[in-house]
Amino acid sequence: MLAASFKRTKIVATIGPSSNSPQVLEELLLAGVNMFRLNFSHGTHEEHGQVAKYARHLSDKHGKPVAVLADIQGPKIRVGTLPIDGLPFVRGNVVRFQFGADYEASGVIPVQHDISKYLKNGERVFLRDGQVQIEVEKIQKQLITGKVLTPGIVFSNQGMNLPDTDLGGDILTPKDIADIEFAASQGVDYIGYSFVQTADDIHKLRERLVKLKCDAKIIAKIETAAAVENLEEIVAATDVIMVARGDLAIETKPEAVPAAQRRMIELGKQYRKPVIVATQMLESMIQSQQPTRAEVSDVATAVLEGTDAVMLSGETAMGLFPVEAVKMMKRVILYTEREEIAGRNNLPEWRDFGHERQNAISAAAVVLANQLPAKVIIAETSSGQTARNISALRPNMPIIMVTDHKRVYYQMAIVWGGKSYFAKDMKGATDHVIRQLKAAENITKGDAAVVASGNQPGLVGGTDKVVIKITE
Ligand code: PEP
Repeated sequence: MLAASFKRTKIVATIGPSSNSPQVLEELLLAGVNMFRLNFSHGTHEEHGQVAKYARHLSDKHGKPVAVLADIQGPKIRVGTLPIDGLPFVRGNVVRFQFGADYEASGVIPVQHDISKYLKNGERVFLRDGQVQIEVEKIQKQLITGKVLTPGIVFSNQGMNLPDTDLGGDILTPKDIADIEFAASQGVDYIGYSFVQTADDIHKLRERLVKLKCDAKIIAKIETAAAVENLEEIVAATDVIMVARGDLAIETKPEAVPAAQRRMIELGKQYRKPVIVATQMLESMIQSQQPTRAEVSDVATAVLEGTDAVMLSGETAMGLFPVEAVKMMKRVILYTEREEIAGRNNLPEWRDFGHERQNAISAAAVVLANQLPAKVIIAETSSGQTARNISALRPNMPIIMVTDHKRVYYQMAIVWGGKSYFAKDMKGATDHVIRQLKAAENITKGDAAVVASGNQPGLVGGTDKVVIKITE
């Protein structure tokens, strides 16, 4: 039931042209992916819908939950269609941008939104994840003229960052609203919310999801200076946090990102909200079969800091080695966990426990399991909250997260240390799990399991019991 290569830290893989075939999706799942990310900045509804459908099919086929994330573009401004081989931006050259322009006909670079009304002379525009920098020199009606300060090649649909510019207003665009409605209709497990600035943004999205009768959880992508400033209130309001390092580095500054990442992981544990560290983790594997030493170190550092999940973007979406990138990420995770985390006396500090009843029960389960020590913790969890509470205390042993809600079963696929298990009926589910663990030789006679459960199995918030079960 628990694979010999069970990893506590989970893997998110972005799906794109390199990976959206049924065959590659299956290889990715078997290589260790726990969540497929549909990036709504690219691709069509039809393509994303197909991937969501395959994901469910593959989960059922292999008995391995893989969550589906619909990552909504947000107010990200992008260039439009450029020459197929990209457009070189040469240092010192003058470039022109305009909403809806046709590059081939006019030599003016198309922009997907009219940003001319927000930009001012002297403000910076970054392209290609901050690699190319332009300074605005003139704005005439909708035509923006600027000078290239840092050169590079820009491709169709790549993002533009305007860190000096106040875009104001509601951050969901009409495209985002249509994408959210589509994602809800496809039964995705998570909605990724780009460019969040305040907790209020999260509350508004939650209201929208309730109206759509959508039970997806919200991933707040922390990628603006405002979000870093309002971090704690956003963490409290959201379900999951993503350290969206690509845009965060541009919107703040690159050297601010590692400290922000660490803070987000700590706050995630404190508020019992899973954290995903994202972007450029194995970037060189887009083109190469081997990552750089620095990339390996980056993944290992995120694992050591205690992130719940690490994410692949271009590596799996449009790289040459999508499956190899996942296998490499898994190798780094497993080695780091085995050498640095397993067996560590990581009994949580009392201050980590929180005061709500569910936290107290979860804390008791972790203390008991570490003390025995138990081979596994089994959490009966209808909403997933008990499982997330236990996970946030980072126990040494795997947590079998048993739920009778299919959506929760998928959502828990990205929770640190967890193995999701679906039970049609919670009555007798734990005994069944124990029999399966024994059959798979994950536990043997005399081994202890700590079980956190409720008197009324299946009742959300009803966890009120911790027991020790010794394997017969
Ligand atoms: C990021 O900026 O790091 C990120 C994950 O967002 P996106 O890939 O949607 O730009």
